[in-house]
Amino acid sequence: MVRLLILIAILFPVHATAGTAADTARAVRENSFDRDECYRVRDLSFIKEDLRVYLTDGHLIFSKPTAGRRVAAVFTADVEGGDGEVILFPPDRAERRSLAAFVDAPNLDEHFRAVMLLFTGDVYEQLQAQIAANPGNRKAPEIAPLLDEKWSPALRNIGTSYQVRLTLDLLGAPARGGLFAALFSSSKLGNFDIVYDPDNGEQIMAGQVNNRDNRLYFDTWTSFPARSSRKDPKPIVRDAELQDYRIDATIAPDLSLNAVTHVKVRVRQPTPVVSFEIAREMSVTQVRVDGAPAEVLQGESVRVNLTRGGNNLFLVVPSGPLQPGRDYEFEFHHAGNVIHDAGDHIFYVSARANWYPAAGMRFANYDLTFRFPREFDLVGSGDVIEDRTEGDTRIVRRRPSAPIRIAAFNLGDYLHARLDRGGYVIDVCANRKLESALRPRPTVPLSTSLPSMPGISRRGQQPIEGTVTTVERVPSPTEHLQALADEVASAMEFMSSKFGPPALPHLTVSPIPGAFGQGFPGLIYLSTLSYLKNLPGTRLDGSAASAEIFFGDVLQAHETAHQWWGNRVTAAGYRDNWLMEALANTSALLYLEKRRGSRSVEQMLDNYRTGLLAHSDAGQPVDSAGPIVLGTRLETSQEPRAWRTITYGKGSWIMQMLRARMGSDRFLAMLAEIAKRYDRKEITTEEFRLLAAGFLPPKSDDPKLESFFEQWVYGTGIPTLKLAYSVKGVAPNVKLTGTLTQSGVAPDFSAAVPVEIQVAKGRSITQWVRSADGPITFTVALKAVPLKVTLDPHYGVLRK
Ligand SMILES: [Zn+2]
Repeated sequence: MVRLLILIAILFPVHATAGTAADTARAVRENSFDRDECYRVRDLSFIKEDLRVYLTDGHLIFSKPTAGRRVAAVFTADVEGGDGEVILFPPDRAERRSLAAFVDAPNLDEHFRAVMLLFTGDVYEQLQAQIAANPGNRKAPEIAPLLDEKWSPALRNIGTSYQVRLTLDLLGAPARGGLFAALFSSSKLGNFDIVYDPDNGEQIMAGQVNNRDNRLYFDTWTSFPARSSRKDPKPIVRDAELQDYRIDATIAPDLSLNAVTHVKVRVRQPTPVVSFEIAREMSVTQVRVDGAPAEVLQGESVRVNLTRGGNNLFLVVPSGPLQPGRDYEFEFHHAGNVIHDAGDHIFYVSARANWYPAAGMRFANYDLTFRFPREFDLVGSGDVIEDRTEGDTRIVRRRPSAPIRIAAFNLGDYLHARLDRGGYVIDVCANRKLESALRPRPTVPLSTSLPSMPGISRRGQQPIEGTVTTVERVPSPTEHLQALADEVASAMEFMSSKFGPPALPHLTVSPIPGAFGQGFPGLIYLSTLSYLKNLPGTRLDGSAASAEIFFGDVLQAHETAHQWWGNRVTAAGYRDNWLMEALANTSALLYLEKRRGSRSVEQMLDNYRTGLLAHSDAGQPVDSAGPIVLGTRLETSQEPRAWRTITYGKGSWIMQMLRARMGSDRFLAMLAEIAKRYDRKEITTEEFRLLAAGFLPPKSDDPKLESFFEQWVYGTGIPTLKLAYSVKGVAPNVKLTGTLTQSGVAPDFSAAVPVEIQVAKGRSITQWVRSADGPITFTVALKAVPLKVTLDPHYGVLRK
């Protein structure tokens, strides 16, 4: 247990005013064990849905009551022949496969030496009843001081991590409760967690905190809806709904941000406490509800952070319980350092999505006022409705013309290029100077990564290898500003002609130091590298051509495409997020094809394939880390590259293969239909499958795309395919006999593979052949001897 405890013993200040929440949180944090509640126990068990924990033989000690309830216990198997056992069977093949990748077995059946339990349900009562029922169990006062001394510091550390979440349950409405977190220590697997959280759509989750290259990862072994929820699925509804944001933000000369956020909050059931999320850099100092002071509790949890994408949970306790059916005006005062100085008036915004309080992502109206030092420029989502200067302060008010899910901003000293194109305004800003990291040196290590998606902060920024070789002079990010503006405007025009209007009619593109991009409604953060395209002498070693294409053509088009994918059409959950990235990238590649021809697209696809086939430390291709629907779970300590490589690479290939099956016209019609049918709605992977199947040509093999999704979306594997053929007969009775052989994948792998038969000059037919474990023989009747027979000449299937 010790290693784990050290890991999360990093203490953070808790901002809380005096009152019930603070008292409860302090009690959770300062909790200790109750020496009068220590037992020698045998054969106790705790069963929560799919999870079974057996306290077979050992000692059990409960914590002292917190807010009248006991919320923690420790069991140790520190007796002769002592034992504890945990059993967790994932309900489906995909989750069993995921678990097996970490614990070498599809089901978890693990003996442990110790477990710490945190809970807000009736665990204490259940275990007490079992203790009383068996005369073999007895109080063990002799060991109580030892256990208390050994485990109380650990309990306090864990309590710090969980204090906000536990306090939420302890203060909450009577319906709240039932959180169960078990932190195991086993000799085989080390320390690992299993959590049952009724607030999550997938209530059961098992995993482990791991460190790789000084970075912490939470490796999710498995995650799934609990048994009762699988039988009777109920949508997870948030405690609170937020509408009509009014944010007043002031950026001081030292770049600290102070904001007052007003928002209408509606609750679904009577509740004394409401939970929100905000970036960890932000402190919520004061909250008022309908003008009356409310208590606020904000703590930081490393563990919760790792699974919440860098956000903190915080609680607001109004002076009286909130009732459903009416709006409450919440006023948050929050402050923090989310803007960082990169020198020369170049800034980096770290909390791009969660700099103000939120409760999940939903479309809302915004009214934003920013005050900032007059020598800078501030851009953001929405139209400018006011812009004035008072002394040294510039005041800009923006109001997006439609509901959006996230309001973003960027700060700099910019040169602008503004274009009006087809009713849309495109404003591209460049830093006047080049960030120092990109200035010429003999070789500059360069972190490059692919763009990320709104809502997933901290993702998409992991470095891949590369260097920029010497350039002769200091390039300026403003040199190609007009050309860049032209390109963004063309991409916008191209996409709006295919998918309809973008999220907002006004799009600002602004630079960000680093090698990634992010597309928010009305605002794009674009890597400075995209401002330096066509720079003589600059190239990325290894994949020079595709890096140039990526930063020169793809990145800004990809981020522009997020105006539709992610900001109009949204993903239902983490398992569907890949769709937004795949749709944005396929839109960017369609635009690239129009601008530069299909060879450029093929170079990008080659590059993606190389990434997917690259080998991990364990000698396995990155693709085998897991199916694309695992989303951010793919980013693990075992293979940190997997999320990025699979989301963008496999995602682009999935779209490419669908296009090959449908033909370009049908594929484009499908994209338009998604934009129309799911406008300001969420789409799931299965809804996408059904919609896509509707665009297959008549009499297609695999008419519901079930096999296609099974292999490429829900499965892994990249086959090697070989074609042999012979031709017999003479015109007009020619018979082509072909044999398709597949290798390098699991025996159940099967893909539709195009075979192109050139029957005359400039005329060819495509025969789709379904591959399988053994050689597949097919025949085609032809009127003449074919000029050429080619296996998949146009990137119709992802293969080695
Ligand atoms: Zn993206």
